[in-house]
Amino acid sequence: MSKTKRFLDDPSEAALSDERNAAPGPEREAAPDADSPVPVDPSSTVETYARIDAFARIDTWVFDLDNTLYPSDSDLWPKIDARITLFLAHLLGLDGMSARALQKYYYQRYGTTLRGLMQEHAVSAEEFLEFTHDIDRSSLLPNLALASAITALPGRKLILTNGSRDHALRTAHALGLHAMFEDIFDIAAADFVPKPEAATYERFFDKHAVDPRRAVMFEDLARNLIVPHQRGMTTALVVPKPGQKDHREAFEISGDVAPPHVDFVTSDLEAFLIEIMANMPIDESNG
Ligand SMILES: [Mg+2]
Repeated sequence: MSKTKRFLDDPSEAALSDERNAAPGPEREAAPDADSPVPVDPSSTVETYARIDAFARIDTWVFDLDNTLYPSDSDLWPKIDARITLFLAHLLGLDGMSARALQKYYYQRYGTTLRGLMQEHAVSAEEFLEFTHDIDRSSLLPNLALASAITALPGRKLILTNGSRDHALRTAHALGLHAMFEDIFDIAAADFVPKPEAATYERFFDKHAVDPRRAVMFEDLARNLIVPHQRGMTTALVVPKPGQKDHREAFEISGDVAPPHVDFVTSDLEAFLIEIMANMPIDESNG
């Protein structure tokens, strides 16, 4: 029996869950309250206060790309990170350490290094994205388990990334995930305003006619789930497995307690998606 099921079968937790779901309706119904943050047990695949059958109302499945659709111990993100440092070093004539420090400063201040470079140095976004995503993806292997888990989800699937469309396409191809996504909403579609800015999600909802109350977002950065939660999305944080490398910056890691805007935490995306489908109520209206 899965961790989630066992968790929800505990009478005290089930009662808590039922109370939280006492008034089902169009509004969000599974949010943990602010006083009771979700405990994150790194030994568990899924820990949650929200009921897994909250996914029955979902018709749009939204996925971040980097460190969400591929594991955090992949060498992909460190390669991109190093190319960004090199871009700054070339652009500004800096040594590696100075370029690195400036990169991290822009990242924290502006949400992406690119946004900092556009604001402070009028850098061409196209040039930056082409250079920094020009990496070897041969270490990425097709993830057939994840591909079939995503394919089985009922409804639309979209990628929402702070990276470029080209990077998302190449990466999804390498992972064998390209065929199941309807579209990719990239940083250019967001007019170079990155998540977690509210404007980016609004633009995304508008462009793809997404009703956030019927959508779920999977993300490796908790701060990128704040606005989705406020707008009524179900939120799932994808964290590294115990002992797995974690490429998030120190300020991006929420510690041993998930923030209240996170409905679900998982360290195994494909197992979590399979579990969602296993718990999906049978829709008798469709015979
Ligand atoms: Mg990410």
